[in-house]
Amino acid sequence: MLRNCADCNQIFAHPVNKLCPSCTKKQNEMFDKVKEYIRTNPKAKIHEVVVQTGVDFDKVREFIDEGRLKIVPADVEFRCRICGTKLTSGRICSQCEADLLVKGETRGGTTSTGSLSKDGRVHFLDRRSRESR
Ligand SMILES: [Zn+2]
Ligand SMILES: [Zn+2]
Repeated sequence: MLRNCADCNQIFAHPVNKLCPSCTKKQNEMFDKVKEYIRTNPKAKIHEVVVQTGVDFDKVREFIDEGRLKIVPADVEFRCRICGTKLTSGRICSQCEADLLVKGETRGGTTSTGSLSKDGRVHFLDRRSRESR
């Protein structure tokens, strides 16, 4: 599948990557730099990481949001992508995660979705029959 690199706009062929091979390599080097800097300076703040590594703030933020960085700058806040609640780690708070499971919106299908949605339907029918009385 041909696509345009998200960074340099060069056309390349890859089923999933958003970046061309050379930008992927560049990005990996940036990632290593950021990771290494935080590892050796665990108390570093995000601004310091940006200045010291020369990596764009947006890129550093991207690494954090993607969950690639296992250790993050000291002042980084995790926020739930859905409701914006502060988190200590991860991307979605446990409440929204449970919500997603109920709605069955998680991709790849989970085994627990079936029983949960069945339960939801029972409630729905129950409410409707009461309303029609
Ligand atoms: Zn590129
Ligand atoms: Zn949430």
